[in-house]
Amino acid sequence: AIFTVVAGARPNFMKIAPIIHAFQKSQAEGKNLQFRLVHTGQHYDKKMSGDFFEQLNIPEPNANLGGGGGTQAEQTAAILVAFEKELMENRPDLVIVVGDVTSTLACSIAAKKLQIDVAHVEGGIRSGDLSMPEEINRMVTDSITDHFFTTSEIANTNLRKAGVAEERIHFVGNTMIDTLMAQMPRFKKPEGEIFDHLEPKEYFVMTMHRPANVDQENSLKAMIDAILAGTGGLPIIFPVHPRTAKNLQNLGINAPNLHLVEPLGYLEFNYLVKNAKGVITDSGGVTEETSVMNVPCVTLRDNTERAETIHLGTNELVGTDPKKLKPFLDKIMAGEWKHYQGIPLWDGKTAERIVDVLEAQYA
Ligand code: UDP
Repeated sequence: AIFTVVAGARPNFMKIAPIIHAFQKSQAEGKNLQFRLVHTGQHYDKKMSGDFFEQLNIPEPNANLGGGGGTQAEQTAAILVAFEKELMENRPDLVIVVGDVTSTLACSIAAKKLQIDVAHVEGGIRSGDLSMPEEINRMVTDSITDHFFTTSEIANTNLRKAGVAEERIHFVGNTMIDTLMAQMPRFKKPEGEIFDHLEPKEYFVMTMHRPANVDQENSLKAMIDAILAGTGGLPIIFPVHPRTAKNLQNLGINAPNLHLVEPLGYLEFNYLVKNAKGVITDSGGVTEETSVMNVPCVTLRDNTERAETIHLGTNELVGTDPKKLKPFLDKIMAGEWKHYQGIPLWDGKTAERIVDVLEAQYA
């Protein structure tokens, strides 16, 4: 069988890496299985893409579609056109998409219209918030997906409610956590003077890139002020997503303990997270990683598609109103926070389960 694996943006790379490695292992065992890795080019700069291939030991993509830049529609269209061409030249038995980015949406549409099966890794999760492009990507992708590889019972329930037949739902766990567990022994302190001065559990890490938080300069400023006011002067390391950089610059924030840095490599970022007192974020993936590493995490969003990180993990939903943040930060500062209780199947073996299912279906 031939499988085409798609990756396009930063949060995709940690999700595909273990799947690629499981495919390579099957090949080494002599199984008749081929794969093509297609990079859509949605994220193209080194710090958002190339570095992850190196650190996570992902092979050079077989094709790069160069579909980065532009508006949502321009990007979707560019990837759709380029991926259709790729599929016509190299027709696989199945296309594997992961996560909830523009590439996930565009590539699933291109594949299904050519009557190629689609597998969605991280299928079935829902925030119910259609103001986020990611939610639209999830809904459209799942409406044409053949095989759902799910991370949680909540996802399974969502899919059953939508009428998806049981045999198409494969509850396998979380490939992002496969990567986290595999890479943990290699986590390393980032290079740079500020990082040499950080004491374990005496600093915060924050990330922000959702349009709702970063596109309005005044609300971005209000949130950063609330963060500074609630963290007792401890250092805050803020790797700035390209989307956030411009507005942040315009604000000209000047707080000696707030350290704006470039996006970090995976091993460096998670080194900092693992040793942090707490994490403040609007990311989805980061809430999964903090849970497994048992690090307190507050999410600056009104909803989440990853409710298990709240029920069983270390995540709390604060919302986007800066006034709501203080009580949560107070609890972290006081060392009063819930502990990770374990999330079913987030055990580092998800990719193996995915490949077992695919081998059984496409052998
Ligand atoms: N990440 C990273 N360096 C950074 C910030 C994040 O390697 O400077 C990793 C993080 O560990 C996680 C992924 O990027 O694996 C999350 O990506 P992002 O927040 O962009 O996407 P989301 O999960 O919100 O879709």
